[in-house]
Amino acid sequence: MHLEPPPTALPATDRRELLRLALASAATVWLPRSARAQTRFETNPFTLGVASGSPTATSIVLWTRLALPGLFGSRLGDDPVTVRWELAHDEAFSRPVQSGQAIASAALAHSIHVEVNGLDPDRWYWYRFMAGDAVSQAGRTRTFPAPDAPAARLRLAYASCQRWEHGYYGAYRHMRQEDVDAVVFLGDYIYEYPGALNAARLPDGGWVTTLAGYRQRYALHKSDADLRAMHAACPWLVTWDDHEVQNDYAGTHEGENGPPVADFAARRAAAYQAFYEHMPLRASVLVRALAGPPGGDGLRIHGQARFGRLATLYLLDDRQYRDPHACSRAGRPGSSRVDPADCAAWEDPRRSLLGSAQEAWLDGALSGARTGWNIVCQQTLFGRRDFRPGAGESLWNDGWDGYPAARSRFTDSLRRHSVSNPVLLGGDVHENWVGHVKADYRDPASASVGVEFCGTSITSRPAGGARHAEWLEENPHFVFADARYRGYGIAEFTPRRLSAALRVIDDPASQVPSVSTLARFSVAAGRPVIERE
Ligand code: FE
Ligand code: CA
Repeated sequence: MHLEPPPTALPATDRRELLRLALASAATVWLPRSARAQTRFETNPFTLGVASGSPTATSIVLWTRLALPGLFGSRLGDDPVTVRWELAHDEAFSRPVQSGQAIASAALAHSIHVEVNGLDPDRWYWYRFMAGDAVSQAGRTRTFPAPDAPAARLRLAYASCQRWEHGYYGAYRHMRQEDVDAVVFLGDYIYEYPGALNAARLPDGGWVTTLAGYRQRYALHKSDADLRAMHAACPWLVTWDDHEVQNDYAGTHEGENGPPVADFAARRAAAYQAFYEHMPLRASVLVRALAGPPGGDGLRIHGQARFGRLATLYLLDDRQYRDPHACSRAGRPGSSRVDPADCAAWEDPRRSLLGSAQEAWLDGALSGARTGWNIVCQQTLFGRRDFRPGAGESLWNDGWDGYPAARSRFTDSLRRHSVSNPVLLGGDVHENWVGHVKADYRDPASASVGVEFCGTSITSRPAGGARHAEWLEENPHFVFADARYRGYGIAEFTPRRLSAALRVIDDPASQVPSVSTLARFSVAAGRPVIERE
């Protein structure tokens, strides 16, 4: 039903210029020696920290953004800044591996996305940046094992939903101690809101709708030292949900919260650009978007990463290409609970959550997924949740529940290709939900084709009105649900077993919360059955 033309992010000339700058921030450039000494900063400009991401067996993206303290970078002016980078085997940088320099341009908020290639597989490295006489903190990162190499263990943290005003990022203080290979971030890195009732801390800038506003909001989030430290600790794989743009937006369709904007396509393009500027993404995700004619992606963030023979990670984007919600209340945009019996569009097979191109890509990617763990990282709850006990149904139309035909196409794809050991990781609901992925959610006797771990939020509060015992009874494919706690999940994969721990903090309003394990589960390879430990 993609009837409307997708938005044109920028006029063609601006697109070409941004493309050139994106490549300049990713590639190593060679400058005359005189250009090196250029800048003297009054204070260290690496206030937003460092990050790495999008790992392969031989490459990694190194990220930073220069921003002077206080005004989130506005005092850097419009001039490009030359940034040097170093990658080494050790924290003291006494065993250098590679170094180079890249251009941080004002048009991309003085961000840098260096792509370092030719690295050894399955190895940890240290990196840092320099500009003028300023040096960034050091970050630690790693490559993944070569695709055909055995790998004994993959240990992931999964996290989502870090609304600033709902608490501090103390959960990351504990995640840092977990010895993970990578963080999978599943959306709602920022929220666009101006504040909240009973706020633990207030954001500045009001409602976020402009490029300057989104940049300021990301910079605000990265002013939290625990978030910066976690970025510096290991590579992140990132996707987004709705709040990186606007609550409940769907594809090219506006959501419902906040002040009206004249041009939602322009708001979305600004939000996508700011996301790129603050995440350790490859320049190609932007270049692919900018280089194409109108109708190309806004930002191509879906993709896959292989972790030896042990696992393949698939990163999905279920916001950018989705059709509008079906049967929202009073025909308004945004989400609501719906009884599918009253909604003619509910089962319409033309409705898509991933968009046809991403669906085709995913089906193709899964067609060769017959070994190891296949870990599908996406932003929303996958399994069916009927909130009305007994007769009648009440389903939330914003997650996969609202797109049942698309969900069936995905589970059919898993079965048709005999995908081995599918594991879905999700977020969005600010609650922990653990369950079996069913071939047909309406039939409790139908096959389990995988398992699902939908994680709670880093800070964001749950919706409330929780009747989880009743809901578990009504939806027996789920084995666990809890709305009380914020935190993150740890999923450890070995050739024989997946072990998952739901790690929760006692108080998001504390900067130094304590952590505990709410529940542990395991899944044996070859058998999609969740066992509580
Ligand atoms: Fe959220
Ligand atoms: Ca029911």
